[in-house]
Amino acid sequence: MLEDIDPKLIRYVINKYIPFHRLAKIAGLYLPNTERSCFCIFHDNTETPAAKLFRDAEGDRLWCFAENRMYFPYDIFRLKMIQHNPETVFKKIWVQLPESKKELVLQESSATVSFLPSNWEEIKKRIEPYKRGEMTLDEVLTELLKLERKPVV
Ligand SMILES: [Zn+2]
Repeated sequence: MLEDIDPKLIRYVINKYIPFHRLAKIAGLYLPNTERSCFCIFHDNTETPAAKLFRDAEGDRLWCFAENRMYFPYDIFRLKMIQHNPETVFKKIWVQLPESKKELVLQESSATVSFLPSNWEEIKKRIEPYKRGEMTLDEVLTELLKLERKPVV
């Protein structure tokens, strides 16, 4: 059995296996269950959606354009937005994983994994003009939505 659980493993497993919208719901907040723009739940965002949800094999991430930063499902625990103990939640997920999967996850969590979306380079290019103040938030979000409609290769 796992004695001292590596916090990095707890974080990795929670980020990979728990969809953002489920933790947000526990916190009484809303996040979409698909990749799209939305209100950021980490700052006072009620007028224009300032964030975008990304999802791939590594789990969910939320990029906030207003704060210029990436959030992960684990941040909901870290910022104490819910009372649940991340270690308990981790254990619940861990017991359900087949042994072969556990080994893989252990390797992945200890490796230097990029937590960025797989098409991050392309996204970054589109965000740059917004950062320089050459585009409005609406314009950059429209650009990013175009990016999504491209067929996945
Ligand atoms: Zn934000």
